Amino acid sequence: MTLRRAAPLFLLLLASACTVATPNSDIVTNSEAVAAEQAAAPKPVPTAEPEVVEAAPAPPPIQRLDLGIAIKEAELTQGGWVRGKLPQGTQEAMLGDEVVDFDEDGNFFAAFDRDAPESLLLTAYHRIGRSISLPLAISPREWDIERVNVPLRPSGTSEEWWERREPEWLAIKEARDKETGAQGWRQQFVWPVTGRISGRFGRQRIYQGEPGSYHSGLDIAPGNGVPFVSPADGVVVLARTGFSLEGGIVIVDHGAGLNSAFIHLSRLSVAEGDVVKQGQQLGNVGSSGRATGPHLHWSLVWKDSRLDPLLFLPPMP
Ligand SMILES: [Zn+2]
Repeated sequence: MTLRRAAPLFLLLLASACTVATPNSDIVTNSEAVAAEQAAAPKPVPTAEPEVVEAAPAPPPIQRLDLGIAIKEAELTQGGWVRGKLPQGTQEAMLGDEVVDFDEDGNFFAAFDRDAPESLLLTAYHRIGRSISLPLAISPREWDIERVNVPLRPSGTSEEWWERREPEWLAIKEARDKETGAQGWRQQFVWPVTGRISGRFGRQRIYQGEPGSYHSGLDIAPGNGVPFVSPADGVVVLARTGFSLEGGIVIVDHGAGLNSAFIHLSRLSVAEGDVVKQGQQLGNVGSSGRATGPHLHWSLVWKDSRLDPLLFLPPMP
């Protein structure tokens, strides 16, 4: 089994073609400024004797305005992500209808759901009312789909079951919505643990034509009790044991709307509120909750989009 992984895309795209200067704009491009300087320069007057020419004053520095959306690195595919820089003066940014967070220098992170459409518009709204849009082409994936001739079994619909499940579900939802200001979204991720890949992101069963829910994470099976680490810096927003489906669960917020959940743990090494560094131990792999065997299920989410952890990782060492 080989790890199918889209080639990383390191590029710098400038969306300057999408910018529109207003008629009274004070924005001057480099070539315009040079042309204006040349036009303003006095024409040489022919003289009989050579003159001592005074050194010309240095031209004023040309102000370079950053007008485009720059894509610095990306995996432009379903379940993938993008890091880049928004133009100076951006007040708000959107990817499709999702708000994009960015720092004071305009650096941003955004990502694409498992079922993202083939094109998404990244738009930066400038504080003086203009906007710049960059269409992103999101390549579709071929998900592992298995068609089975058995009916879709409704799971956990009894009132009794939901009574136990609802507070767990709410705790997970609230944790994933927390904004901690963590900075891990800027980092290249590392493997939380290495081992056999026992389940890939996006895999789905279709029951007599009715789609079941797809596998929302990456399963790694290094063996029971093996310690695992945080793939990036973050803040622990949930650390619990005994959840009905997840068993032991740790959720780490990486900031900018990106967070990781690790479930089926046999032991937790962190508590809620802990600030963790990339590579710091979070707990141990187990089979708690609804698991068929010991493995680490890692689900990575940006806002409401479910992402493929493999697209954040280098090849397994
Ligand atoms: Zn899993």
